[in-house]
Amino acid sequence: MAARIFVERDVFMKKYSQLIRHTGNNFLFDLIDISILGTLANTPIHFHAEGLRGTGKTTIIRAAKDILPKIKRIKGCIYNCDPSNPHCPEHRDLSNKDIEQLGTELIDMPFLEISPSAKKGTVVGSIDLKKISSREEPEAALLLGTIPRAHRGIIFVDEINRIADTSPELADILLDVMGTKPGRIQIEEVGLPTVVIPVQVSIWAASNPDEEPGPLEDIRRQLSDRFDFTVNVERPVDTAVLKMILDGNNEKYNDSYLIEEKKEKLLRAQAIIDDFSLSDEIKSILASMYVDFGLESLRSIEAIMLGAKIRGALLGKNPDIGEIIFLARLALRHRMDAKNLNELIKHLEQRRHQPEKKSEAAMKSNDCDLRKAVLQKNNDQKIGTNSGKLKNKFFSPLEKMMSILTNKFSSSAGGKNNRPISSDPKDMDIKAPSKKAISLKQLELKDYVKKEEELRR
Ligand SMILES: [Zn+2]
Repeated sequence: MAARIFVERDVFMKKYSQLIRHTGNNFLFDLIDISILGTLANTPIHFHAEGLRGTGKTTIIRAAKDILPKIKRIKGCIYNCDPSNPHCPEHRDLSNKDIEQLGTELIDMPFLEISPSAKKGTVVGSIDLKKISSREEPEAALLLGTIPRAHRGIIFVDEINRIADTSPELADILLDVMGTKPGRIQIEEVGLPTVVIPVQVSIWAASNPDEEPGPLEDIRRQLSDRFDFTVNVERPVDTAVLKMILDGNNEKYNDSYLIEEKKEKLLRAQAIIDDFSLSDEIKSILASMYVDFGLESLRSIEAIMLGAKIRGALLGKNPDIGEIIFLARLALRHRMDAKNLNELIKHLEQRRHQPEKKSEAAMKSNDCDLRKAVLQKNNDQKIGTNSGKLKNKFFSPLEKMMSILTNKFSSSAGGKNNRPISSDPKDMDIKAPSKKAISLKQLELKDYVKKEEELRR
């Protein structure tokens, strides 16, 4: 029998309302909110919580199951088909009228786990050979695994560093699921055609980088990079906080009221998510971050953009540079070394405190062209028509950014290539100075030290 892939709540687990937020775990709570809202808005957000044993990271993650809002699906669909965008083999070709007739139902947002001992077949799914009647249509007899069953929900992977080390096959599956948004899953059976189904799941992972086999980024860097955000969870350092934890507080509060209020807040934020956008200034800050700090992966910028939009909806205000600083720490922690990250944050902090001075400097500096490109591109986009699809609307700032960055790079690369490269001095265009060169020693002081006015002439 396959390994246990579901972990039901046992009696020792804490409720969400019993958790205590403190400086060591605060960001994990924020990431959970961001990811739930992203999942509700059909854009999975993957995060990885790292921390020593006893920091409570898995307790917090499992307790977050309490605050997951319900999702609407086509009645009885085990793939959790969204009635407005059905994707499963059974429903994807049906008309709106047919779907209406099938009816809809509200279900808990899925929260499933993959353990290090899970097998590929139970995670992905397999083809039910007993049920299959037609070799040409294997989709008709799919036994769904954990990932396709978690469509539009969350998958929690504890000890992801161990999985990457001991089950490269599971790591490959996660890479596929997290590679694109939505991801995909491939179900194979010897002698039958492969079935590929789109899946939209947010992956939440946890690991202790100090235990064997070490940090995920050292074991499977590509997988580490697929996480939009990484957060370091630490123990509480404040004795008052510790006392609250030991006291097992919150017993006096009405749990269900708090939980319902939290779910309501997430649903309200989902409804207004498209009202929030990034300003041109924020976009140009992100573009210059990518270029000036030589970021390896565009995924980090994409994550910050998505995170900023979602935080906008959660906090009810357009994201500012403070939000960018907060998200940059979480999006870049696993993607650049600590020294460069500190430099980058320092640079953003300076910009935050001297916005006018900085924008003046930006106009004079090399990123002037990029800045113009950003503004021009945005104006062009504003004139263009909107497809009206939620997903496209949601992604549009990201696509703008990608196209700006792509243009920037292709033009600079093209510039280099267009220039004839030659080492033959005869082919070089040499501009000789108008006068014959003389030694510095032969010059009078006034000849080589010029005042500013003289230089301007
Ligand atoms: Zn369906």
